[in-house]
Amino acid sequence: MDICIICNYQLEEKQIIRRARMRDKDGKPQADRITYKARCPSCEIYLRKQDHGKTEGHWGISNIKESDLKFELSENEFLTLKSTVEKKLEKISDDYRFEREKWAEFITIKKQNDKIYAFSQCEGDYIINGYVIKRDNYFISEYTDEIKKNG
Ligand SMILES: [Zn+2]
Repeated sequence: MDICIICNYQLEEKQIIRRARMRDKDGKPQADRITYKARCPSCEIYLRKQDHGKTEGHWGISNIKESDLKFELSENEFLTLKSTVEKKLEKISDDYRFEREKWAEFITIKKQNDKIYAFSQCEGDYIINGYVIKRDNYFISEYTDEIKKNG
Protein backbone atom coordinates (compact mmCIF):
# COMPACT_ATOMS: atom_id res chain seq x y z
CA MET A 1 0.00 0.00 0.00
CA ASP A 2 1.27 3.41 -0.95
CA ILE A 3 0.12 5.47 2.01
CA CYS A 4 1.62 8.36 3.95
CA ILE A 5 3.23 7.31 7.24
CA ILE A 6 2.10 10.53 8.92
CA CYS A 7 -1.55 10.84 7.87
CA ASN A 8 -2.39 7.54 6.07
CA TYR A 9 -3.45 9.41 2.96
CA GLN A 10 -3.06 7.69 -0.43
CA LEU A 11 0.21 8.79 -2.07
CA GLU A 12 0.21 10.37 -5.52
CA GLU A 13 2.63 10.93 -8.39
CA LYS A 14 4.52 7.71 -7.70
CA GLN A 15 7.61 7.52 -9.89
CA ILE A 16 10.91 5.69 -10.15
CA ILE A 17 13.76 8.06 -9.39
CA ARG A 18 16.66 5.60 -9.45
CA ARG A 19 17.32 2.08 -10.68
CA ALA A 20 20.58 0.53 -9.51
CA ARG A 21 22.06 -2.57 -11.14
CA MET A 22 23.16 -4.94 -8.37
CA ARG A 23 25.73 -7.73 -8.54
CA ASP A 24 26.78 -10.19 -5.87
CA LYS A 25 30.45 -10.52 -4.90
CA ASP A 26 31.09 -13.06 -7.69
CA GLY A 27 29.75 -10.59 -10.23
CA LYS A 28 26.50 -12.41 -10.87
CA PRO A 29 23.62 -10.04 -11.65
CA GLN A 30 21.09 -9.56 -8.87
CA ALA A 31 17.65 -7.96 -8.89
CA ASP A 32 17.70 -4.21 -9.44
CA ARG A 33 17.35 -1.91 -6.46
CA ILE A 34 14.61 0.55 -7.33
CA THR A 35 13.98 3.83 -5.52
CA TYR A 36 10.51 5.34 -5.73
CA LYS A 37 9.28 8.76 -4.82
CA ALA A 38 5.68 9.81 -4.22
CA ARG A 39 3.84 12.80 -2.84
CA CYS A 40 1.35 13.01 0.01
CA PRO A 41 -1.27 15.55 -1.13
CA SER A 42 -2.42 16.11 2.46
CA CYS A 43 0.98 16.80 4.12
CA GLU A 44 2.41 18.19 0.86
CA ILE A 45 5.64 16.28 1.36
CA TYR A 46 7.55 13.62 -0.61
CA LEU A 47 8.20 10.09 0.56
CA ARG A 48 10.66 7.55 -0.78
CA LYS A 49 11.03 3.80 -0.68
CA GLN A 50 13.43 1.22 -2.03
CA ASP A 51 12.49 -2.17 -3.40
CA HIS A 52 15.06 -4.86 -4.01
CA GLY A 53 13.72 -7.58 -6.27
CA LYS A 54 10.72 -9.12 -4.51
CA THR A 55 11.65 -7.45 -1.21
CA GLU A 56 9.42 -4.45 -0.87
CA GLY A 57 10.74 -1.49 1.11
CA HIS A 58 8.83 0.87 3.39
CA TRP A 59 7.83 4.41 2.57
CA GLY A 60 9.92 6.83 4.56
CA ILE A 61 10.57 10.51 4.79
CA SER A 62 14.01 11.04 6.24
CA ASN A 63 16.64 9.02 8.07
CA ILE A 64 17.72 11.98 10.20
CA LYS A 65 17.62 11.35 13.95
CA GLU A 66 17.28 13.76 16.87
CA SER A 67 20.92 13.00 17.81
CA ASP A 68 22.14 14.20 14.37
CA LEU A 69 20.93 17.75 14.98
CA LYS A 70 23.45 20.51 15.61
CA PHE A 71 21.39 23.70 16.00
CA GLU A 72 18.15 25.33 14.94
CA LEU A 73 18.38 28.08 12.33
CA SER A 74 16.69 31.42 12.99
CA GLU A 75 14.55 32.95 10.25
CA ASN A 76 17.47 35.23 9.29
CA GLU A 77 19.96 32.37 9.23
CA PHE A 78 17.56 30.45 7.01
CA LEU A 79 17.29 33.37 4.56
CA THR A 80 21.09 33.66 4.46
CA LEU A 81 21.39 29.93 3.82
CA LYS A 82 18.78 30.19 1.05
CA SER A 83 20.66 32.91 -0.83
CA THR A 84 24.04 31.18 -0.33
CA VAL A 85 22.79 27.84 -1.65
CA GLU A 86 20.91 29.43 -4.55
CA LYS A 87 24.01 31.36 -5.64
CA LYS A 88 26.04 28.16 -5.50
CA LEU A 89 23.42 26.20 -7.49
CA GLU A 90 23.27 28.86 -10.24
CA LYS A 91 26.90 28.12 -11.09
CA ILE A 92 26.80 24.32 -11.24
CA SER A 93 26.54 22.54 -14.58
CA ASP A 94 23.36 20.89 -15.83
CA ASP A 95 24.91 17.50 -15.08
CA TYR A 96 24.11 18.28 -11.46
CA ARG A 97 20.64 19.67 -12.01
CA PHE A 98 19.34 17.04 -9.55
CA GLU A 99 21.01 19.23 -6.89
CA ARG A 100 18.79 22.11 -7.98
CA GLU A 101 15.74 19.83 -7.98
CA LYS A 102 16.52 18.63 -4.45
CA TRP A 103 16.85 22.18 -3.19
CA ALA A 104 13.63 23.21 -4.96
CA GLU A 105 11.80 20.34 -3.26
CA PHE A 106 13.26 21.30 0.12
CA ILE A 107 12.15 24.92 -0.23
CA THR A 108 8.73 24.11 -1.68
CA ILE A 109 7.51 21.94 1.17
CA LYS A 110 8.63 24.25 3.97
CA LYS A 111 5.69 25.90 5.68
CA GLN A 112 5.59 28.89 8.02
CA ASN A 113 5.76 26.94 11.29
CA ASP A 114 8.29 24.33 10.21
CA LYS A 115 11.68 24.45 11.90
CA ILE A 116 15.04 24.15 10.15
CA TYR A 117 18.01 22.44 11.79
CA ALA A 118 21.59 21.94 10.72
CA PHE A 119 22.56 18.27 11.00
CA SER A 120 25.69 16.18 10.84
CA GLN A 121 25.56 12.44 10.24
CA CYS A 122 28.23 9.77 10.11
CA GLU A 123 27.97 7.15 7.39
CA GLY A 124 30.91 4.76 7.31
CA ASP A 125 34.00 6.82 6.52
CA TYR A 126 32.00 9.91 5.62
CA ILE A 127 30.41 12.83 7.41
CA ILE A 128 27.27 14.24 5.85
CA ASN A 129 26.40 17.84 6.69
CA GLY A 130 23.13 19.42 5.72
CA TYR A 131 19.81 20.89 6.75
CA VAL A 132 16.56 19.25 7.70
CA ILE A 133 12.99 20.50 8.02
CA LYS A 134 11.11 19.44 11.14
CA ARG A 135 7.31 19.60 11.34
CA ASP A 136 5.89 18.61 14.74
CA ASN A 137 7.76 15.38 15.52
CA TYR A 138 8.66 14.50 11.95
CA PHE A 139 11.70 15.25 9.86
CA ILE A 140 10.01 15.89 6.53
CA SER A 141 12.84 16.82 4.18
CA GLU A 142 16.59 17.15 4.15
CA TYR A 143 19.15 18.85 1.98
CA THR A 144 22.75 17.60 1.89
CA ASP A 145 25.22 20.46 1.78
CA GLU A 146 28.51 18.56 1.90
CA ILE A 147 29.91 15.06 2.24
CA LYS A 148 33.37 14.90 3.80
CA LYS A 149 35.80 12.04 4.29
CA ASN A 150 36.05 11.39 8.01
CA GLY A 151 39.50 12.21 9.45
ZN1 LIG B 1 0.50 12.73 4.72
